[in-house]
Amino acid sequence: AVRLEQVSVHFGRTVALAGLDLEVAVGETLALLGPSGSGKSTALKAIAGFLRPSGGRVFLGGEDVTDLPPHRRGLGVVVQSYALFPHMRVFDNVAFGLRARRAGRKEIERRVTEVLELVGMAGFRDRYPRELSGGQQQRIAIARALAIRPPVLLLDEPLSALDAALREDMIAELLRLRAELPDTAIIHVTHDQGEALALADRIAVMRDAKLVDIGPARELYQRPPSAFTASFLGSAN
Ligand code: ATP
Ligand code: MG
Repeated sequence: AVRLEQVSVHFGRTVALAGLDLEVAVGETLALLGPSGSGKSTALKAIAGFLRPSGGRVFLGGEDVTDLPPHRRGLGVVVQSYALFPHMRVFDNVAFGLRARRAGRKEIERRVTEVLELVGMAGFRDRYPRELSGGQQQRIAIARALAIRPPVLLLDEPLSALDAALREDMIAELLRLRAELPDTAIIHVTHDQGEALALADRIAVMRDAKLVDIGPARELYQRPPSAFTASFLGSAN
């Protein structure tokens, strides 16, 4: 579903991404894990099209999208700050991408209802974002990303603003969501190893703008290929 070939991103003299190669299959959840500043959000932005790589290519569904703007990539994206439109009610926030695609009224109504149910927020459609808790806002941000039925969902620290208990609930909710979206590829950026181990099929560990290790979640945890990954995943060796 997603393929990166030698994707580099430079900001002046800062190398934020140094030749990243990555593949995510249809229906797979990949956790992108790594310390602050390691390039996780930059990788996601390069996939989403929010920034242009200094080098390399990005493929979605086999198509080279490196030169396409974000709105032509057909992705669902939840950015790190999950900014909802503050002046719009929940319904209109979720409907935004559908309206941009000129969906009909009936389809918008049906689809918004469906995704709000999916994230357990059906009763909140007339609220404004400021009338919601942080966790509820994050669920609306996820609903908004899902509304267009994206083949690829990019989540940048979607649970970072939540306390531990709410985070547990949301992890369960994301697992349920994934079961209902068997064909959606998900890239889930986090620096929480528990979140990565709970949610991901595979984990990719980043450090200093590079991928250091990648593999099936359990395998990486039980037999970490490097000391860095071992310490980062909190493996017992
Ligand atoms: P965090 O866990 O804190 O969100 P991250 O892994 O997402 O970290 P990135 O946001 O990808 O890290 O940043 C990678 C590097 O690129 C950092 O050194 C950062 O300072 C730098 N960087 C990111 N965005 C910009 C920008 N717009 N201009 C200049 N430097 C940037
Ligand atoms: Mg980040």
